[in-house]
Amino acid sequence: MKAGTATRGDIEAVQLEKLHLGMEEVLTNNLFYRRRHHSVNTWSDFYSLPFLTKVELVEDQNTNPPFGTNLSYPLGKYVKLHQTSGSSGGKPLRWLDTRKSWSWWTHIWTDHVYKAARVRNGDRIFFAFSFGPFIGFWSAFAGAQRLGAMAIPGGAMSTEQRVLAIRDLDPTVLCCTPSYALRLAQAGKELGVDLCNCAIRMTVHAGEPGASIPSTKHAIEEAYGARCFDHTGMTELGPTGFGCPLGDGVHLIESEFIFEVIPLGSDEDMPVSRPEGTGELVASNLGRFCSPLIRYRTGDLVELSRDPCACGSPFVKAVGGIRGRVDDMFTVRGINLYPSQIEEVLRRYSEIVNFQIRHEKVRHMDEVSLLIETKTGSDDVVERVVLDMRHSFGVRINCWCVAHGTLPSNELKASRVVHVES
Ligand SMILES: [Zn+2]
Repeated sequence: MKAGTATRGDIEAVQLEKLHLGMEEVLTNNLFYRRRHHSVNTWSDFYSLPFLTKVELVEDQNTNPPFGTNLSYPLGKYVKLHQTSGSSGGKPLRWLDTRKSWSWWTHIWTDHVYKAARVRNGDRIFFAFSFGPFIGFWSAFAGAQRLGAMAIPGGAMSTEQRVLAIRDLDPTVLCCTPSYALRLAQAGKELGVDLCNCAIRMTVHAGEPGASIPSTKHAIEEAYGARCFDHTGMTELGPTGFGCPLGDGVHLIESEFIFEVIPLGSDEDMPVSRPEGTGELVASNLGRFCSPLIRYRTGDLVELSRDPCACGSPFVKAVGGIRGRVDDMFTVRGINLYPSQIEEVLRRYSEIVNFQIRHEKVRHMDEVSLLIETKTGSDDVVERVVLDMRHSFGVRINCWCVAHGTLPSNELKASRVVHVES
């Protein structure tokens, strides 16, 4: 299927065929799905399947350690292990890939993610990432090799060493989380290395929504003199999307996944899904039948639009990328707020280098306050931030400046939201 000319009918036919063939294979040996699923021949078969949650996957691995029962083949067929960061609390989820499913991951990088960002063979890609068990940029690294680009690992390095590596090796592409890109640039300035003058022309980000938040994207593009692209994906699901070249969202790759959305406020016991609109993203992967996820509730908040996109992609767009975790949405004095909206305001201030959103329930009401770190340690910016928040959202959000190094900062996912027990 040529993505540029595919109609919705073409996409749906490909999805159903892949799902039908894949599930035939899965239902032969996969105990997890044999217990809960039937074969899928039609779309109504698909829509009659139950939604799947992360809690069920964790329970399955707890009951059947160490890998659970969502395995379609004997263990000897699997060649890669990754695990979730466990950032939302609880035990990490372990996930295995076969040679075939790992090849699916890396093809998605070359055929969609790198392609949209115009990353080519001949590029040098620097990965400011620790290469631990978290999936992070492992698939991006393998994808770079498949593309014929030079893949440069930046694992086991301090931030300062990474700045010097970028200065000395002239990479043309940077892959890391958006907040780490800003931290690297700041560290560069402190070392007298202005990364705006380096050879990097594209940056590709994952792990946090930042690259689709206009002010964060703008700050990264200014810091590197480069174009900034978002990418979405999950350890247990696969690489789901690529940044639209128009810069206002992420296209979800419907030739490799089926996407649905559960509107917010749906009946918890009998949720229904829609093909577009705002709510929790539900995804089914179509190239990882060794350990597939069918109708998986991602917990990510999105606004899916099926309006034709001027970039020519036939795929549904998550406008503004992933807006945050569904669980991280607050209602402050009647106003719905999610963390990426708060980040959008904070990133307008170049003097703010790190921040944390503190969420507390006070007499059953959501209260939100902000902790910020500034470049100089000065709290001059606080009053302007409070006014800006009030102007943007119509509510007062208190803000405090804390000493440099107080808030957590790492190259995986920055923990932006802390739920405080009161
Ligand atoms: Zn587009």
